[in-house]
Amino acid sequence: MSTSTPPHSKVIIIGSGPAAHTAAIYLSRAELQPTLYEGMLANGIAAGGQLTTTTDVENFPGFPKGIGGSELMDEMRAQSIRFGTTILSETIERVDFSTRPFKLWREYEDEPVTASCVIIATGASARRLGLPGEEKFWQNGISACAVCDGAVPIFRNKPLVVIGGGDSAAEEAMFLAKYGSQVTVLVRKAGLRASKTMAKRLLAHPKCKVRFNTVATEVTGEDKERGLMTGLRVKDVETGTEEHLEANGLFYAVGHDPATEMFRGVIEMDEENYILTRPGTSYTNVAGVFAAGDVQDKRYRQAITSAGSGCIAALEAEKFLAEQEDEDVQGGVEGDNQAAKPVQNGDAPEYRSNPLL
Ligand code: FAD
Ligand code: NDP
Repeated sequence: MSTSTPPHSKVIIIGSGPAAHTAAIYLSRAELQPTLYEGMLANGIAAGGQLTTTTDVENFPGFPKGIGGSELMDEMRAQSIRFGTTILSETIERVDFSTRPFKLWREYEDEPVTASCVIIATGASARRLGLPGEEKFWQNGISACAVCDGAVPIFRNKPLVVIGGGDSAAEEAMFLAKYGSQVTVLVRKAGLRASKTMAKRLLAHPKCKVRFNTVATEVTGEDKERGLMTGLRVKDVETGTEEHLEANGLFYAVGHDPATEMFRGVIEMDEENYILTRPGTSYTNVAGVFAAGDVQDKRYRQAITSAGSGCIAALEAEKFLAEQEDEDVQGGVEGDNQAAKPVQNGDAPEYRSNPLL
């Protein structure tokens, strides 16, 4: 693996989750020597992405006994390297996609790196609620990662609360039940969003209690510097009844935000800032810029769908580069050094998140 920054890359991949590494594997096997910027705690997440925050992944094909999330990402990284991907542990913080070659600026560096095409696979990150008391007790009882923090002594045999009704909430609650005395799951609506299997397991778990139509309103705790949280005010949204729950841990599982801030005004996004891609493809509104993984998928958000869309992006990037080369040969012009343009493909392009829809 090369670790020095290439002055120009045919393809730059931004990100390091399943989408980024699948794209890297395909592109390096196609001998396009991709450069992958895996980030240095970019967006608050370690290189390897969201799966580094979980324990066993049981639904990724090929691992009948399951595989640890970090282990799976280490294997993907090794596979990217095996075929010649240059992986750099740097974060891209700014881009200029108005002309080709595209320019990308790394954190702490003044000079941009350049690329003929770019795959955006920057993923997503856990959301916070902004409750009163949240800032004071963040990491002093409140966490967004049960797998990372659940085993610490302050949570042992203590009442814990998870907020959310999706797969993460179900998974985190059952994980936390190994440590806490009881886990209460607060769900703001009358039903769970989690898959049927996860919901069934959660509802049947002897140490987990699900409270529907309930929201948290305030985190309470010790009134001293670095004091720990000890409780949570909650409200029944149907009856308006308020209550104070004893709780020594609070875990957020309320969804994610896509890591797209640096692309605002550059790449078309939906109202929740997910990148819009043309259905069935990884094409963004800028020719030569592709998007894959959770950054453009708010519906499925799975390792395997991210990997699948990373494959799509790689194949489309490869095609784009081949067409650029053909144009250069026919037109006798340099393919780069021209204004980047919106995708043109006969029909009026219709962009929306998730290429698999
Ligand atoms: P992500 O995994 O989101 O990774 C993106 C990476 O890009 C991050 O490491 C980030 O640091 C990096 N990055 C961001 N911005 C930049 C930048 N500017 N420069 C450089 N790098 C940058 N899915 C399953 O299929 N099975 C499961 O069992 C499962 N369990 C899960 C458990 C938890 C707790 C969570 C949170 C998710 C789980 N998922 C699971 C979902 C799965 O993790 C995601 O769908 C998948 O990881 C998304 O992959 P991605 O490639 O889009 O990027
Ligand atoms: P989801 O977006 O699926 O669920 C978020 C949950 O949080 C919803 O129940 C939502 O409620 C609730 N919520 C959102 N905002 C608030 C708020 N302000 N107050 C209270 N509750 C709120 O996110 P997940 O992280 O659960 O899942 C993300 C993806 O990762 C999914 O695709 C999931 O399938 C996948 N995943 C898969 C796992 C597995 O297969 N083992 C494990 C973990 C995740 P509402 O429903 O009312 O909108």
